[in-house]
Amino acid sequence: MNCPRCEIELTEAFSTEPTQVIEYNSCSSCEGIWVSKAVLNYMERIQEPVAFEFMSIDKKLDQLIGLDCPSCVPSKLMKKAEHPRDTRVIMDYCNDCEGIWLDKGELRAIQQEGVLTTLARLLGIK
Ligand SMILES: [Zn+2]
Ligand SMILES: [Zn+2]
Repeated sequence: MNCPRCEIELTEAFSTEPTQVIEYNSCSSCEGIWVSKAVLNYMERIQEPVAFEFMSIDKKLDQLIGLDCPSCVPSKLMKKAEHPRDTRVIMDYCNDCEGIWLDKGELRAIQQEGVLTTLARLLGIK
């Protein structure tokens, strides 16, 4: 699986949480991460009292550039979803495999209110 931005191989990463180990793929170059819907299901339950950290999003990244899903073959252009509270946070998601690409800083920005809740609203599903 390659980074949709840098096209270099994504690194498998693990995060050991109190109740389970979650797995995701990250890019060592742009620090973006690719997460499956299952991981998001778990992350939604992590409610860290962190402030939104929009400032950590790299302003040099062109978030409007179309990115291909790193998981689907043949590759499929992902859709864009703007965060309702800050249009600087634009996530890419794949309709087919329901994976989500988060640029550096975006995960922390949306984690506070619950990732799945946010996504459901962005994607227009209940
Ligand atoms: Zn990258
Ligand atoms: Zn996909």
